Amino acid sequence: MNKVFPKKWLGQHFLTDTGAAERITLLLPPDVKNVLEIGPGTGVLTQHLLNRNINLKLIEIDGESVSYLKNTFPQAQNLIIEADFLKTDLNGLFTENYTIIGNFPYNISSQILFRMLEYKYKITGLTGMFQKEVAERICAGKGNKSYGILSVLIQAFYNTELIFSLTPEAFSPPPKVNSAVIRLTRKDNYTINCDERTFFRLVKKAFNQRRKKLRNALHEYRFSENAPAVFFQKRAEELSVDDFITLTNALVKE
Ligand code: SAH
Repeated sequence: MNKVFPKKWLGQHFLTDTGAAERITLLLPPDVKNVLEIGPGTGVLTQHLLNRNINLKLIEIDGESVSYLKNTFPQAQNLIIEADFLKTDLNGLFTENYTIIGNFPYNISSQILFRMLEYKYKITGLTGMFQKEVAERICAGKGNKSYGILSVLIQAFYNTELIFSLTPEAFSPPPKVNSAVIRLTRKDNYTINCDERTFFRLVKKAFNQRRKKLRNALHEYRFSENAPAVFFQKRAEELSVDDFITLTNALVKE
């Protein structure tokens, strides 16, 4: 019997491959101080994190998992926040910078990543499991078929590494998709040399019609001559992060 009734709507697929669980926690930098685990569930990652000399906090939305964790790991009692990660004030959790870890609920993957970007001034990294397809999108380079909005927006601020993949049998209940573990590490200089909101909007627009050349995909925008003309003959997937920054700076009017 499962320790906690698995709730599909909360993306609950508990990792049963204990070797993989330990491996994920070992991906945290050795000198890390403040760590937030999203969705600890029944604690397969948490048990390893509790053995480390770190300042740990756990956010879990599911009351049943929270009770299970509190009973099984008394030392975690005061570390657990029963809340929705998407509605939690990410600034108030730690006074200092912190890093995120988790086997993330796949139904809210993009929202987790966009929140990380919003709070990037405090979040120095993120390690954990996503649906493999999403993990590939995050880490893909220019020209790759997975290269898209997530790749550009995340890689503007974080270095990305695709570490290893797992098949559905590593989980209970097994998800319908493969999974992969990634590690994001904030860049030393994580300010971009253009207006951030405009950059986000432009990247999204460019990829929304990813098969079209930018001349068409971005026809609503006006650019100065600082925008290299060759860009407009290309598709979004052929532009690097720096190219998108150049384009943002050349924007005259939306
Ligand atoms: N880390 C565990 C569980 C992974 S399943 C393991 O590896 O086995 C994903 C977990 O995220 C579940 O425990 C689920 O309840 C939790 N979760 C889902 N949505 C959440 C949200 N919005 N905020 C916090 N936790 C959430």
